[in-house]
Amino acid sequence: MRTRPFGSTDRSVALIGQGTWNIPTSGRAAQDAVGALRMGIELGLTHIDTAEMYGSGGAEEIVADAIAGLPRDALFIVSKVLPSNAGYAGTIRACEQSLQRLGTDYLDCYLLHWRAGRPLSETMRALEKLADDGKIRSLGVSNFDVEDLEEASSHLRRHPIACNQVLYHLGERGIERRLLPYCQQHRIALVGYSPFGSGDFPTPRSVAGRVLATFAERYGVSAHAVALAFLTRLEGTFTIPKAARVEHVRENAASANLVLDDDATDAIGTAFPLPDANAPLAML
Ligand code: NAP
Repeated sequence: MRTRPFGSTDRSVALIGQGTWNIPTSGRAAQDAVGALRMGIELGLTHIDTAEMYGSGGAEEIVADAIAGLPRDALFIVSKVLPSNAGYAGTIRACEQSLQRLGTDYLDCYLLHWRAGRPLSETMRALEKLADDGKIRSLGVSNFDVEDLEEASSHLRRHPIACNQVLYHLGERGIERRLLPYCQQHRIALVGYSPFGSGDFPTPRSVAGRVLATFAERYGVSAHAVALAFLTRLEGTFTIPKAARVEHVRENAASANLVLDDDATDAIGTAFPLPDANAPLAML
C-alpha cells in the first residue's frame, strides 16, 4: 500500500482510504458494510473517513464495529463537525460525541464539514483546544477554497490546518488549478471526496470511459482503480472512495500500488480535461 505524508502531521497515510457516507447502518446490510470496511483495513485502506452527519451518527457506530480490537495506531480515523453544531462549545461537544460513537480516545484528524453559520474563529479555537487536550491529533477543514483556508489559518495559533477535504473526481478537476498548489505549498493534505462522482462513473460506452477501460485492461485492474490512481498521482493528494461491497473494496485496494505511466496519465488527462479557467470550488 502506497502512503505519503499527511499534510503537516508526522503520519504517513495510505493514498486510498474508505468513505462512509450513505453506508448502511442497520440490518444485514450494515453487517456487510462492517465486513467490507474491515476487509479494506486488512488490505491497507486504513484511512477511514466519517462524520457525525452520516446516518446521524450511525456511520461512526459502523466504523466502531469495524475497528474494534484493531491496533489503534495503525488506523487514521477522520470525522467532521457539522457547521450547525460548530462554534466553540458546540465543536468540543460534537467531537466528544463522535469519540464516544467511534469507541476511541482520539481522532487522527477532525474537520469542519463545510463553512457556514458560526464564526470561523470560534470553531478554530475549539479545534486547537481539542488538539491541546489530545482528543484530536490534527485539525482540518472541508470544502474550503484558498481564501477560506487563509482566513481559517489566521485564527490558528498553535496547530496548522493539516487537511482540506474537497470534491475531486475525473469530471471535476478544478482544484488542480489553484487550490492544490496552495495546499502543497502550505503542507495541507488534499483529500479528494466522491472519487467516483458519488456513483456517476463514466461508462465504457462513452469516449472518455473507453480510455479508462483501455488502461484498466493494460494494467489488469478495474477502470475504477485506474481512476483512483489518477486522482492520487499528484503530491499531497489522497482519496476516500466509499464501497459497501467487498468486491468493490478489493478493486479499490488494487489501485494502491498502481503508478500510471506518462502515456496513461496524459491520455486520461486529455479525456477528462481540466476546466479552462478558475471557478468557485465545487461541492456536493
Ligand atoms: P464515491 O466514493 O464517489 O462513490 C460511491 C459509489 O461507488 C457507491 O455506489 C459504491 O458502491 C461505488 N463503488 C465503489 N467502489 C467501486 C468499484 N470498485 N467499482 C464500481 N463501483 C464502486 O461516493 P461518495 O460516497 O460520495 O464519496 C466518498 C466519500 O467521500 C464519502 O463516503 C464520504 O466519506 C466523503 N465525502 C465527503 C464530503 C464532504 O463534504 N466532505 C462529501 C461527499 C463525500 P457500493 O457502496 O455498493 O460498493
